[in-house]
Amino acid sequence: MVLVLNAGSSSLKCSIFDTSNMPQRRASFLVERIGQEHAHVESTIADKVEHEDIHVASHGVALQWVIKKAVSKGIDIHKIQHIGHRVVHGGEYFLQPTRVNKAVIEQIRACIPLAPLHNPANVQGIMTAMELFSQVEHTAVFDTSFHQSLSPERYLYALPIALYHQHKIRKYGFHGTSYKYISERCKKVLKLSDIIVCHLGNGASICAIENGASVDTSMGFTPLQGLVMGTRSGDIDPSILFYLLEHGYTQEQLVQLVNKKSGLKGLSEISNDMRDLHKARAQSTKADMAIRVFCRRVAQYIGAYYATMSRCQALVFTAGIGENDGPIRDEICSLLHVPSLRLDPTSNVQKIKQDIQLISTNTSHIPVYVVKTDEEFQIAKEITGMSGADTKEQDTFEAKHK
Ligand code: ADP
Repeated sequence: MVLVLNAGSSSLKCSIFDTSNMPQRRASFLVERIGQEHAHVESTIADKVEHEDIHVASHGVALQWVIKKAVSKGIDIHKIQHIGHRVVHGGEYFLQPTRVNKAVIEQIRACIPLAPLHNPANVQGIMTAMELFSQVEHTAVFDTSFHQSLSPERYLYALPIALYHQHKIRKYGFHGTSYKYISERCKKVLKLSDIIVCHLGNGASICAIENGASVDTSMGFTPLQGLVMGTRSGDIDPSILFYLLEHGYTQEQLVQLVNKKSGLKGLSEISNDMRDLHKARAQSTKADMAIRVFCRRVAQYIGAYYATMSRCQALVFTAGIGENDGPIRDEICSLLHVPSLRLDPTSNVQKIKQDIQLISTNTSHIPVYVVKTDEEFQIAKEITGMSGADTKEQDTFEAKHK
């Protein structure tokens, strides 16, 4: 069995998979608001969902609670042989899943300046799990790895090149585990390997995939660049920040502004959640404008990628908004004239039941699909499929960092 952990700053997502064959999910847990008075847990075991409010002060306590819950439901946790950890930023060091040891943890810590909002929680999750499960293998899977195939002309910013060499300032891209999952599903099921994927959740990005590999993506040095997100601004003119600095904002306030107070929430002054904006749209011009800015930005990126790809066989929507929000998919597609996309009104608004669903008509220039993403499954698959080549890579890594 495999346990997959995804530790956020105040949340912990865990999934337990049977791995005798292809990974099969036995249970999943989402613990939110860790450290607050009441944390909320959603447990899904054998398709039964339970909700509980509990008190958990730390990720360690949350993980212990989850393990106890799993045991109480008859899951034999002694069968867990391998733990997979999602890590957001692996810099240029990690090209593939990597067995965790002291040197690897140090390297993940070294990436904290590149992802100060994410990597500290990931390191904490790893340390906690290694204490609780000291006898099993731990492997880190990085959101950035899938985008290491970007060419320098795509990942370099037009800044003095010394900044790349001294500080590793470049585009890294994120949501890589999700893109890899989608890419492999599309290749296997649809026989398509040149696609544009829109991962539209609270964090949102887009990726151009050619021959199964990422060739460009909208997030950059950090997950702040690109699309309009729940609370992140996405692309802005960097001069705005200098201007605000001169007008009394502190650096910390600016970090909060662009990461936590912008995006859908900042524009609408209502919510970062697209469902709330739909409800408010008829009465609120701000909610309406937030949705319009969001859709326009996605359409612009699709157009840019489509025009520069050598071939694009399909457009794919995934993640919370991408999988569930037919009106948003429709609004984005209606803004695109090249390629001209024709969504089927019936299949686009139906609740998506299959994990891959065609939502365009056969007159559409290219087909449009909704594909349900599953990052935890992908992590389970990658860590159990680790081959001798991965181990060799690991040896090289350790030798280099002794
Ligand atoms: P993340 O993993 O980045 O936190 P998710 O992929 O869970 O985000 O997506 C969250 C977003 O998806 C929210 O804006 C939410 O409104 C939207 N969303 C989730 N479910 C639905 C739904 N059934 N209909 C419309 N939007 C949804």
